[in-house]
Amino acid sequence: MHEVGIAQQILRVIESAAREHGQGRVESARLRIGELSGVEAETLKFALGICSRGTRAEGMAVEIVCVPACVKCRQCSSDWPYDMEVMRCPTCGSEEIMLHGGNDLCVESFEMETACA
Ligand SMILES: [Zn+2]
Repeated sequence: MHEVGIAQQILRVIESAAREHGQGRVESARLRIGELSGVEAETLKFALGICSRGTRAEGMAVEIVCVPACVKCRQCSSDWPYDMEVMRCPTCGSEEIMLHGGNDLCVESFEMETACA
């Protein structure tokens, strides 16, 4: 399951960003996953739970936002849902179209506990 490798990558991103914000623990993270990235949200959460053991992100709440894929026209910039399976732009008829957003996989934000004395 490749979610483990992805979880490790995500944790590295969070860890290095968290280092710049002090010593606190990471409480929650919000991730964006593209519809076409092939990543199973529940599996990824599970993998994050395992991989974060012993790190400052252990036990963090994970929120996963699924980003729907869409197709975008290079000519007129209009876009439409990927699942319409339209192979040319419905607005201007151009065939110069590209897939947009479906492969996203990133850490949108995370929250750290506020330092308490
Ligand atoms: Zn167009």
